[in-house]
Amino acid sequence: MRDGEARFRKLTACPACAGEDISAHQKGTFSGGLTQDKIKITDSQYGKTWDLSACGDCGHIFANPCPTPEYLASLYGRVEDPLYEDEAAGRSRNFRRILRRLENLIPEKGKLFDVGAATGILLDLARRRGWQPAGIEPSSWAVRAAADKYQIGIIEGALESASLPEDRYAAVTMIDFIEHTPLPYEAVRKAHAILRPAGMLVLVTPDIHSRAARLAGLRWWHLRPAHLAYFSRRSLETLLRRAGFSIVAERRYSWTFSAHYLLSRKPALQTWLKKFGPASFLKKIPIKLALGDSFEVYAIKDSGV
Ligand SMILES: [Zn+2]
Repeated sequence: MRDGEARFRKLTACPACAGEDISAHQKGTFSGGLTQDKIKITDSQYGKTWDLSACGDCGHIFANPCPTPEYLASLYGRVEDPLYEDEAAGRSRNFRRILRRLENLIPEKGKLFDVGAATGILLDLARRRGWQPAGIEPSSWAVRAAADKYQIGIIEGALESASLPEDRYAAVTMIDFIEHTPLPYEAVRKAHAILRPAGMLVLVTPDIHSRAARLAGLRWWHLRPAHLAYFSRRSLETLLRRAGFSIVAERRYSWTFSAHYLLSRKPALQTWLKKFGPASFLKKIPIKLALGDSFEVYAIKDSGV
């Protein structure tokens, strides 16, 4: 971004439903500058939020003031996150489950577009299962990693402003993406445009009303500077309907991580982990966190919207 350009903007309408009945919800716990390290996928800045506003119409909770798309693009473009690839096995388990469910809905498969494709783990799996993979990702490092490791060409950039072919894809996947964008409506609307008629959008995002979120309070692990929006079942459905989608299937989402990854998130355990040396055996132990504190939603593109 250019010097002097605004990095934040005050929102006067809800990013999910466009309603103007918005009010202050919670004072932020995050101060200081935003850097590419604070927004990478494996960051450990839990419990840190922006000043949050709430929508009186759909209940959506969102950062306000919100970082601008230009500012975020300049940061995400520079993200390097080698830890992300370390967890390829755990992430593959998560993605395989999603692809299996998607294939129940679209047995004939076809072209699949992954938004926030990171290093291409999901797209590589999808290709092996017979899908034709494509995707977009802002981090130059991740796009290069996907090309080197999986020989998959991912577009470098932001979905909302990318120029993409319309009515092309059988499926669009947004796994832990929508909470990172200041323009959620523009993003799902773009997904609608590039999907073929009756194409399917798969969306995974944290649930602010989940039991885990309520129990953890301000320590909930999804409260982090990279997250600009916190959806509930209601605000998510409102957003999808407004963009021309109907939810056809949904479930609670549980992440799988390695024992090493989970332990390495705890600063107090760093010394202990170092003593164990490479800790490769810990990396092989998958742990499924049955928190169920995210939504996994399958939504079909309505025609004529
Ligand atoms: Zn709203």
